[in-house]
Amino acid sequence: AREWHLAARPQGWPVPTDFALVEAPVRTPGPGEVLVRNVYLSVDPYMRGRMSDRKSYAEPYELDKPMLGGAVGRVVASRAEGFAEGDYVLHFFGWREYATFDPRTAVKVDPDAAPLSTYLGVLGMPGLTAYAGLTRVAGIKAGDVVFVSGAAGAVGGIVGQLARLKGASRVIGSAGSDEKVELLVEEYGFDAAFNYKNGPVADQLRAAAPDGIDVYFDNVGGEHLEAAIDSINLHGRIVVCGMISQYNATEPTPAPRNLAQIIAKRFRMEGLLVGDHYDLQPKFVEEVSAWVRSGELKYRETVSEGIDGTVDAFLGLLSGVNTGKMVVRLDG
Ligand code: NDP
Repeated sequence: AREWHLAARPQGWPVPTDFALVEAPVRTPGPGEVLVRNVYLSVDPYMRGRMSDRKSYAEPYELDKPMLGGAVGRVVASRAEGFAEGDYVLHFFGWREYATFDPRTAVKVDPDAAPLSTYLGVLGMPGLTAYAGLTRVAGIKAGDVVFVSGAAGAVGGIVGQLARLKGASRVIGSAGSDEKVELLVEEYGFDAAFNYKNGPVADQLRAAAPDGIDVYFDNVGGEHLEAAIDSINLHGRIVVCGMISQYNATEPTPAPRNLAQIIAKRFRMEGLLVGDHYDLQPKFVEEVSAWVRSGELKYRETVSEGIDGTVDAFLGLLSGVNTGKMVVRLDG
């Protein structure tokens, strides 16, 4: 069976030769283990961080070892109590066709309750990120004006729609193409959206939010964060979820040059790590899956076919090829 290894640590933008698709034997499960054939692999921006050897919130990937990540697969052999052949599981041994592991770190998922891919997206880690960031870190309340960057992505699309469902008075999003902007307004129901490639973010944000913003959900960092600080209202909240504009930087990136506004405006800025918020998972799944079923919360996925394309899917994610959650589907 095939699996992707990290062959070299990327310098700046990753290139295909940083990865290797390797043939490896399929290990028969030992006592307490399952053998899983993967159906969907997740590619996520945080993986770029793990490719560097700087220690961050997640351990660096080891060279010449399988790339770890979220995946959903079908149990094809089990010697673990509570797991039977034919069960589907969400686990973290991604980027390979088969994986043998102790399923205590995995959770069973129901393919009849929701499409399998959604356990990696709207009902999975990105969905929980949006939910926890907005409800717990931002403390969203009725009447808030909310701005989210990366708004057509897996996390951002849910942030904007959840904000509206939680009573925001105005929801604004930014994304990197006119098609994505149209999706935000026409399908996701954002009140306003703009293409950040069409002009300075600060100007476009001010035009979209003439009375300022109360919450900024940051997926991007850099110019977006500076623009949000310019537009944020007294006692506003900034949730720092990601800074994807800087993940491939080879030089230290400048801090927001206008950070001194934090004093006059007394806004709060707080980092968000989804791993801190798994206690919200049951509540999140209950609320969000109901809105997905009723059609009040829409989601998109970009599906890349076949394990060969996993690296291209990951590189595409970093450059905005995806709308909504980017996943890789394996046949079998
Ligand atoms: P997305 O589905 O949003 O995919 C990434 C998107 O980033 C691309 O589609 C692209 O869209 C956008 N992008 C890439 N480069 C830039 C740039 N220079 N400026 C602005 N936008 C850019 O990924 P996720 O929803 O999975 O993740 C979104 C963010 O949330 C990331 O920063 C990620 O690291 C973070 N995250 C953090 C978590 C946490 O616990 N803190 C958990 C999960 C995610 P476009 O076409 O619009 O440019």
